Parts: sequence; C-alpha cells; structure tokens
Amino acid sequence: MAIGETSISESAGRDFIRDIIAADLDSKRSSKVVTRFPPEPNGYLHIGHAKSICLNFGVAEEFGGRCHLRFDDTNPTKEEQEYIDAIKADVRWLGFDWGEHLYHASDHFEQLYTWGQHLIRAGKAYVDDQTQEDMRATRGTLTEPGRNSPYRDRKVEENLDLFARMRAGEFPNGARVLRAKIDMASGNINLRDPALYRILHASHPRTGTAWSIYPSYDFAHGQSDAIEGITHSICTLEFEDHRPLYDWFLDNLPVPSRPRQYEFARLNLSYALLSKRVLTELVKGGHVEGWDDPRMPTLAGLRRRGVPPEAIRDFIKRIGVAKANSVVDIGMLEFSIREVLNATAQRRMAVLRPLKVTIENYSQGEGEELEAVNHPEDTAAGTRRIRFGREIYIERDDFMETPEKKFFRLAPGREVRLRYAYFITCRETIKNAAGEVVELRCSYDPATRGGNAPDGRKVKGTIHWVSAADAVPAHVRLYNPLFTRPDPSASEFAKDINPQSCELLTDCRIEPSMATWEHPVQFERQGYFCRDRSSAPGGLVFNRTLGLRDTYAKITAIPATGGKTG
Ligand code: ATP
Ligand code: MG
Repeated sequence: MAIGETSISESAGRDFIRDIIAADLDSKRSSKVVTRFPPEPNGYLHIGHAKSICLNFGVAEEFGGRCHLRFDDTNPTKEEQEYIDAIKADVRWLGFDWGEHLYHASDHFEQLYTWGQHLIRAGKAYVDDQTQEDMRATRGTLTEPGRNSPYRDRKVEENLDLFARMRAGEFPNGARVLRAKIDMASGNINLRDPALYRILHASHPRTGTAWSIYPSYDFAHGQSDAIEGITHSICTLEFEDHRPLYDWFLDNLPVPSRPRQYEFARLNLSYALLSKRVLTELVKGGHVEGWDDPRMPTLAGLRRRGVPPEAIRDFIKRIGVAKANSVVDIGMLEFSIREVLNATAQRRMAVLRPLKVTIENYSQGEGEELEAVNHPEDTAAGTRRIRFGREIYIERDDFMETPEKKFFRLAPGREVRLRYAYFITCRETIKNAAGEVVELRCSYDPATRGGNAPDGRKVKGTIHWVSAADAVPAHVRLYNPLFTRPDPSASEFAKDINPQSCELLTDCRIEPSMATWEHPVQFERQGYFCRDRSSAPGGLVFNRTLGLRDTYAKITAIPATGGKTG
C-alpha cells in the first residue's frame, strides 16, 4: 500500500463520515471525493450550517477532493438574491473556497424536466389533478396506507401533454402536480407517490419567468448530486427517511453518476434557536436589528459580534460529527472563542462606566507617557505608550464608599495600584445633590512609577484607568443571551426572548489608539470587544464579544445590568 493511502485512512478516520470515505477510497469504491454544501437561499447561514460547511469542505480538503457550493433554489417565493450574496460571503469568511464549482439547482432545471418526462414514459410518473386537500387526505398516516389517486393510471401520452402544458403555464398554481408512481401503501410516507413538480407562477432570481413549474427538493437534490458527480451527499438526520426516495430516483433515471447519501446529527445549541424560520421571524418581527444583529446565531451576527472564524472552526472540530441528536452547551462555543481571542487579541484599557479621579498632588498641566504591554504572553506584540495626567477615569464599580468584606479595590483611605502607572490613595469623595459619588480626590506616590513600590509595600487591588484628557468617548454594547432559557421554544419563541439581551453604555472612555483599531481587542478586566461598523453621535461603537470568564453556569437568573461585583 502506498504511503499516501495509509495516511488518508489513518489520519482522517476521526468520525463515521470520515471512516466511510476512507473505506470507500481504500476499497476503490470511489476514486475521489466530491461533496457539496447545498443551502437554500431563503435566509442567512447560522452556526448549524457552519457544521455542515466545515464537514463538507473539510473532508474534501482532507481527502484531496473538492466541495461544491450549490444553491438549492427550487422555491422562488422564499428565495432572494440578498441571501445568495450573504451565503457566499459567509462561506468565504469561514475560510472555505468552492473555486469554480458554484452551482444552482436551477442550472439543472432543463435536465430535471427531461427526467420528469423519462419517468412518465417509463410509466413511473403521472399528472395528478386532485386538490391539495384530496392528496393530503389520501396520503394515509404512519399506521394506515394511502389510497391511489383516480388519475394514477393516466396514459403516457396524456401525462406528457399535461406536463408540457404545466410547463407552458396553462394552469393556475396548485391545479396539478407531477407525481412519482411508487407505492401508496409503502411504510415510508416519502414513497407514497411523492410530488416531483408543482405549478408555481413566480419569478425566480436566476431563471426569471421561464418556468411555471418547479421541482420538489427531493426530485432536485439527488439528481443535482448525480449531474455534478457528487460522491458523498452528506446531510442532516431528518433526511434519513428520504434516502429510499433519493435512491429510487437514481435507480430509475439514466443519471451520469451514482452518489450516496449519508446523514449526521444537526447542531443544536443551548440558548439559541437554529432554524431559518425562527431567525426570519426574529428579523421580520423586529425582535432583533437584522440578520447580522450580534445576538443572532447567524454567521453574520457572530462576525459582527467579533467572533473570529478560527474560533467557529475550532468549535466545530471539538464537537465532532455523530449520528445521535444532542444539544451542545453554548459554553463550548464560548470556550473556543476565548481560546482564540486570548491568544490573538491585544490588550487595551477602557472605562465603561466612568468615575472621575483627580490626583491632587500631580501638577496641573503636566503629563507623561507610561509603557503598557500589548499582550502578556506574546512579546512580539510589543508595548505602547499611554498618557497619564492629573485627571483620569476609573470604573465606577472599582470604588466602594463602604467596602464589602472581599472588596479590595478603591475605598476611602485605601491605596491601590493603577495598572502600568502608580499607587494612588483615596483622600476624599465628592458627591452631587443626590448623594451620589461623582468624583474622587486622590494622591499618588511618585516613587511607585510603573506600579511597584521601592519599599516593597503591597496593595491588594489593581485597577484600570484612562487619561481624562486623552481618552476618546465611545458607546459599548454588552450582550446577554437572546433567550432567557437554555431550551427556548421554537413554536412560541417570543415569550422566551430576553428583554435585557443588549445593554447600551453611552459614556465610555477608551484609549485613543482604539479609534482606528480594526482587530479584536481585550479591554483589560472587561472582556473581548470589536469595533462595530455603525458609529454613534459620540464617535465609536464597540460590541462586547464576550466576557473573560464563563458566565453561562450562572445565567439562569440573568443580571439586569451585567455589572461586576467583588
Ligand atoms: P433550517 O433547518 O435552519 O431552516 P435548512 O436545513 O432548511 O435550515 P438549508 O439551507 O437547507 O437549511 O441547509 C443547508 C445544509 O445545511 C443542509 O445540508 C442542512 O442539512 C445543513 N444544516 C442545516 N441546519 C443544520 C444544523 N443545525 N446542523 C448541521 N447542519 C445543518
Ligand atoms: Mg433545508
């Protein structure tokens, strides 16, 4: 056996799909691997689709084959060009490339029509004039067989004529369908004379008004696979019952190749609903601000939230591919995001809820530059200079007038370290008429420059800050889960929507270098952030991708403010 063959079957046999492919290649049942990712362009892609994309493009890459992007565009009433464009952008963003292999089910419409005629000539398809209600009523149930249509034994010539006139647009929507003639008593309802074509007078994004009939998913999918030379047609478990029909078409049509369908478990994620129907309703119903709202589990939403594509690929790899349905804890996705961002995001300081601090013994009008580390584990990221002066901002909740037992940050009379700067001691609190603390008067110890005391004295707290004169204003959006429950209802999701899923902070101050920063960033002690494409009246808008620690363990009761304590 050649070295290449050994390495294929041994290195890539990590799940049952890869095992099947490796075995097919080893046994020469397949000479190459050709897969496809077949989205219907009726919405944006979500993280569940990422599982299918990573699997289909991933195995093609690993086994030296190719993966097609095929739009399953057989239902023009729900499909739009916007979705086609968004899907392409999302697949590329995720890191995959279909090269020249971009297809549409509609590319195959003419061939599919010819195959409809082929089945009619073989006595395996007929035009049915029953109403939709009649067809539903005669389909039978899981326990009862269906009943034959009175049109089932129409002559070939009549069927061909009616099918041609359906195509020509002679009949209104729903007046007739072309059905396969299989078995109305089959234990598998998909084999009870399934519809191949329905009449639909609708303009199609690609074929315009050329067609008045459109093929069903089942009739289009496997045949498109065969036309494109797909070897392994990988789909989710709900298609398992369709496989006998998939195979029936291939057995009964003169197809140029023989693909096989394999099913895997779809991704379900806690605190999320991965269904295009629900996501569409969230958008159309105004529950979110669009398909790329950072609370959405869409790839566009995750991107806008600041999630790097590497993190999604890492997550998909970790969860693996299996045949049993399950719900993946969203904490696993967050784990992958933190892994990637911790390693790659530079550190900066930002004050989200500012409290002014005046350092009374620091000369008025003076200022200086201090050195700050950009990444604690990556020296190549270097250092930067940050401005320090008499007036700074600290985080409001880094001060407590009467500190709780385990509160080690600033309090009256107490000394803390300002990150990269000096030790300061709180001397006085200034309050407004309502009795709220609006400013602190502090002193600093010039001998502690850089954050260490030469006499070796210690402080228990280190807090971040920004220079009042230099920091730039920004809006920051903090996100909580879109749903209040780990298992939101798909049918009545509105009642499970979290009214506090987005908290907007409008008075934040951040290091000035952030004004032009395009990468993910960690605001020290606050989490990972990215600049949003929108801009606020005050200037910049940042989205918090996620906090520094896993919060899902305790979010059964969602905090109203998202504020930290202790
Ligand atoms: P939804 O169920 O979210 O409405 P869909 O299955 O209708 O999605 P398609 O555009 O038909 O969406 O999906 C394209 C491919 O992505 C299909 O092969 C489908 O099996 C796969 N896919 C869809 N949802 C998931 C998921 N949650 N996990 C894994 N694969 C998925
Ligand atoms: Mg589908």
